[in-house]
Amino acid sequence: MKKRREFIKTSVAASAGLWVSGLDRAWATLPTPGTIMSIAAHPGDGMFSMGSSVAQHIANGGKGTFLSLSLGEKGHNSIPTTEYGHMQQEAMEESAKLLGAESRFLTYPDAEIPFNEEASLAVCDEIRRAKPSIIITHWEGSWHKDHKSCHEIVQYAIFYAGLKTLQRQQPAHYAGKLFYAENWEDMDEYQQDTYMDITEVFEQWQTACALFPMWRGETGFRYHDYYRSLATMRGCLSGFTHAAALMTASGQRVKNLKEF
Ligand SMILES: [Zn+2]
Repeated sequence: MKKRREFIKTSVAASAGLWVSGLDRAWATLPTPGTIMSIAAHPGDGMFSMGSSVAQHIANGGKGTFLSLSLGEKGHNSIPTTEYGHMQQEAMEESAKLLGAESRFLTYPDAEIPFNEEASLAVCDEIRRAKPSIIITHWEGSWHKDHKSCHEIVQYAIFYAGLKTLQRQQPAHYAGKLFYAENWEDMDEYQQDTYMDITEVFEQWQTACALFPMWRGETGFRYHDYYRSLATMRGCLSGFTHAAALMTASGQRVKNLKEF
C-alpha cells in the first residue's frame, strides 16, 4: 500500500498541482491493509511457514504480529531445554524485528500444548489485543500434536474473540480472514488454493529465518533447503518468482454471485 500511495502521489503531482485536492480524496478512500497475525505452535513454524506472508503484508503497508504458543524448547537433542527455549525466543524476536513485526509468546510447554478452554481464551485475548484482519495458522492435517492443538485452539479463539457478549479485558474483535500455511509437518490433505507473491520480501524473509539455529538442519530436518525450494516451486506454479501457498478456511470459500 505504501507503494500504491507513492505511485499515486508521484503520478498526480507530476501531472498538475491542481490535482492535489483530488489526491487527498484518493488517499482517504484507499483501504488500509490492517494487521496480519501468525499463530503457530512453535517459533520456527511461525517464521518458516507463515513469515513470508507476514513480511509481504508489512511491505504492502500493513502490520504484522507473530504469536508462538510455546518456545519449541524440546526440539534440540543436545542443547538443554531451558537454553534452547531462550535461543528460540531470541531468534523469533530478532527475526520478527527484522521484518518490522512484533513477536508475542505464550508459555505452554513444548509437546504439551493443551487444547482446552484456558488456551483458547488466552489466544482469544491475544487476538482482541492485536486486532488482526487476517490470521494464518496451522492446517489440521498434521502428525504433530502441538500443531493439531494450535489449529483447534485458533478456531475457538476466533469465535471467542468475536463474541461481543463474552466479557474479557479487551473488547470483541472479529478477524475476518483465516488461512492455513503450508508446513512440511502439516501436509495430510492440505490443498493450497491461494498464492501470495513474496518475491519482494523473499531474501529479507530468508535472512530472518537464518537467525534460527534449526534453519541449517542441525535438528535433523533441512529447513533452509525445504522452504527456500518450496517458495521457488510455488513461484513456478503461480507465475511469480517466489510465492507462498496458502489454504483458505472452508467458510471463506463460499461465494454469493448474481452472475458468473
Ligand atoms: Zn512445530
